[in-house]
Amino acid sequence: MAWINATQRKRDSSGQRNICAACGHPGTGEDPLVITTDGFRVHLSDTTNPNSGFYGQQQA
Ligand SMILES: [Zn+2]
Repeated sequence: MAWINATQRKRDSSGQRNICAACGHPGTGEDPLVITTDGFRVHLSDTTNPNSGFYGQQQA
């Protein structure tokens, strides 16, 4: 089960559940949000882009 951090939980409860914590844009069907190893929701593409600070940090 995915671990969500306290900051992200506040974002979730304030209507930002589908807003990327990295870039501020909503998740889409083609680029859904995933959970990082430190518990934030970011785009899948933010974890697969070598130029992103979240590269390789998707939770298993
Ligand atoms: Zn993003």
